[in-house]
Amino acid sequence: MSSAAERLLLASMHDVSPRFETEVDRLLELLEPYAGDRVALLVVPNHWGDAPIVPGSQFATRLRRWAEAGKEIFLHGYFHRDRGRHYTGRDRLRARLMTAGEGEFMGLSRQEAGSRIIEGRALLEDVIGRQVDGFIAPAWLYGQGARAALRDCGIPIAEDHLRVWSPATATELARGPVITWASRTPLRLASSLAAAAVLRHAPMRVLRIGVHPPDCRHPALLGSIERTFATARRARRAAAYADLM
Ligand SMILES: [Zn+2]
Repeated sequence: MSSAAERLLLASMHDVSPRFETEVDRLLELLEPYAGDRVALLVVPNHWGDAPIVPGSQFATRLRRWAEAGKEIFLHGYFHRDRGRHYTGRDRLRARLMTAGEGEFMGLSRQEAGSRIIEGRALLEDVIGRQVDGFIAPAWLYGQGARAALRDCGIPIAEDHLRVWSPATATELARGPVITWASRTPLRLASSLAAAAVLRHAPMRVLRIGVHPPDCRHPALLGSIERTFATARRARRAAAYADLM
């Protein structure tokens, strides 16, 4: 448990899936000196519907070892890709601007979100042999249905761009923007490098840093990730999300 004055660093590895095994390995290696096993793995049960995590497979065994080593395991959507056709105008625009179609839980009904959470959680818990630590929506995007389903399912921890909360107890656990990188366009890449350079010095109590498989494609981005972790660790303890509870 942390004292109130202590500053924390929370690291997360997004899109853990057999599809991105090489990139996940590379990024975990990069984070190792700064975060060790204090990296939350955000796991996608079946990325885009054609990269299933199969119990008993080599990847499932690796996932279980990561969990046993103490890495937190979060359910991260089910398919990750957004196949919703029922957005309102504003949500449709937000989903397109922010995610390139990766906001699976943005447009789901409470019932559909709930059944994907239940199914995904059962699969991951079978694989890792213990309960998952929480749920984080793809692209951090939640519709109303998704938020209600998280409460229905008693999910202990969730987060979006701006905060961490407990759906199970309806309490806020931390506040402040997450540092993450985008590389789909040169402009997004440049602005995320600039944002990281500022935010890694920010004085908030809990600093969150999230990395994604495509980050590996850009050496400048990998450099920024490493500098961000190095800077953050000088002033912070690498912690688990559960430490916020
Ligand atoms: Zn993701």
